Amino acid sequence: MPQSPNLADPMLATNGAEDPLSILKRVYGYPAFRGRQAEVVDQVVSGGDAVVLFPTGAGKSLCFQIPALCRDGVGIVVSPLIALMRDQVEALKQLGVRAAALNSSLTREEFMDVRRAIASGELDLLYVTPERIVTPAFKDMIGNARISLFAIDEAHCVSQWGHDFRPEYRELGDLGEAYPGVPRMALTATADPHTREDIIDKLALRSAKVFTTSFDRPNIAYEIVERDQPRQQLLRFLERHKGSSGIVYCLSRAKVEDTAEWLNKQGVRARAYHAGMAREVRDDNQDAFLKEEGLCLVATVAFGMGIDKPNVRYVAHLDLPGSVEAYYQETGRAGRDGLPSDVWMAYGMADVIQRGRMIDGGGSSEDIKRVERSKLNALLGICETSGCRRQAILSHFGEAHQGNCGNCDTCIKPVETWDGTDAAIKALAAIYRTGERFGTGHLIDVLTGNENDKTSRFGHVDMPVFGAGKDIPAKTWQSVYRQLLASGLVSVDHEAFGALKLGPDARAVFKREREVRFRKDRPTKGKAARGASSSSSTAKSALEEADMELFEALRAARMAIAKELSVPPYVVFPDTTLVAFATNRPEDREALLGISGVGQSKLERYGDAFLKVIQAHQR
Ligand code: ADP
Ligand code: ZN
Repeated sequence: MPQSPNLADPMLATNGAEDPLSILKRVYGYPAFRGRQAEVVDQVVSGGDAVVLFPTGAGKSLCFQIPALCRDGVGIVVSPLIALMRDQVEALKQLGVRAAALNSSLTREEFMDVRRAIASGELDLLYVTPERIVTPAFKDMIGNARISLFAIDEAHCVSQWGHDFRPEYRELGDLGEAYPGVPRMALTATADPHTREDIIDKLALRSAKVFTTSFDRPNIAYEIVERDQPRQQLLRFLERHKGSSGIVYCLSRAKVEDTAEWLNKQGVRARAYHAGMAREVRDDNQDAFLKEEGLCLVATVAFGMGIDKPNVRYVAHLDLPGSVEAYYQETGRAGRDGLPSDVWMAYGMADVIQRGRMIDGGGSSEDIKRVERSKLNALLGICETSGCRRQAILSHFGEAHQGNCGNCDTCIKPVETWDGTDAAIKALAAIYRTGERFGTGHLIDVLTGNENDKTSRFGHVDMPVFGAGKDIPAKTWQSVYRQLLASGLVSVDHEAFGALKLGPDARAVFKREREVRFRKDRPTKGKAARGASSSSSTAKSALEEADMELFEALRAARMAIAKELSVPPYVVFPDTTLVAFATNRPEDREALLGISGVGQSKLERYGDAFLKVIQAHQR
């Protein structure tokens, strides 16, 4: 490789002979590669193709950025969202990397600048949308330039199977033929095997080396609760996260707006985000979430893809997500920086009925409906498990985990179970005797012997099963039906307005060939069972009391710099770096350089400002 003249300037990341580890240290300020990063980098630096399947937060960006800096030419990164390219490019510029984004928001002049930089080989990384990369104008623009690699980020968008399908991604399959000899990479955090297959197939990456790692996110604490008074429950969860940023997911746009408004009245700083809002308002709210600290964003699933805010400390679901895959992606947006983070979901029978209705009422083919139903059931299984949540989730993705993770609600406070065979027989009998035509509300009235207009009118008061379950409270019967549903012993007939039907295995229960155990619901009032302890859920938890003050001062200094540059604070330094400043208290530039996250460029830019803050807080 030719020696780049820029190597003389330590401020500039350059194309040339520098090896990957040295770039990692000099540009990013990180002491070592993580997990399989080094292997991916080697593969691409030596000209091979790669499919990178790492969970969120594992560090996929470095996997293409470093090869692009090692190899000659410009690395082209395909990314689906214009708004997020801006932040990524900004973060790279802070590192002294020559990066740009090509999108419709550029002025003519900016566009010409990028064009010139490409032609003269002055760019290390160029971010583009999938729509643009296939246009003749773009091909013309990069026609004579040397290309170091193509990186297709969020590669799951190519799959119709996944939940973020983008038809434009399909055309990216032709890149290999159009640019022979240029290494191609596909990167995603999608764990679903079907989607992974699709990526390799649709992007023509059959001969690429595939890199996977464990999908476990050990810093995320899982908690799923029975929905009782959802707003109060949410508020209690949020109380554990005062001053931190997080996301609250709701199913509908109306609920997003109502919830955000209500939270503000309760003193929680919240903003709303959904696809039906005016564009400026939505963008403004997203921007605030990225740039401010301690903001709660209430959103539909329209929010989140490609968001690389590293210090999202919690994700809450007020409604059941679409599938285990969706749940994992949405919760995965918490804790990218590796610090402890909490995810929480409240769910109830109403979710199951509503989801089912959406599936059956949608215009999809029978095949797709069947797949959707089985996805829903898999998620219910995780909600109702009395074992380790992490184990249940990972097992869904085909990954073994020994359980007892110690960082989910069921591990921290083991769920009590009870022998429910008798109760199950009664619950199933109530369905059977009343003709499989009624929903849970009515069935519970029958079981508990509640004489009302409906139970009388249908003659159910005269049946032997009427009142047969008096000894058990109605709330427990709710839980029994939910668990029967999750285990497949019962199914919902959505054409009959949510009536419950017997599943194929119900017979074995009637004949006592199958035992049934139920989990005891936790009390929802008072101190709830919880995932991580409240104090562990912020960056602050890593700090001694004495270092807290300095950490807060460093945060304030970071915010001031970020505001001036109009970038998110984490672009200046991530929380993890500030925590290290506060605990190690580096006294000079050299000591600063020894801290993870401080590279040459950032040392030049901010080193003195942060040293001043540290000096002002001598112990
Ligand atoms: P992903 O795209 O896989 O979700 P990112 O590329 O955004 O993850 O990286 C997550 C965080 O981890 C970022 O803050 C990144 O700077 C940091 N990171 C990545 N690789 C390393 C490493 N080798 N050492 C230290 N921090 C790293
Ligand atoms: Zn666990």
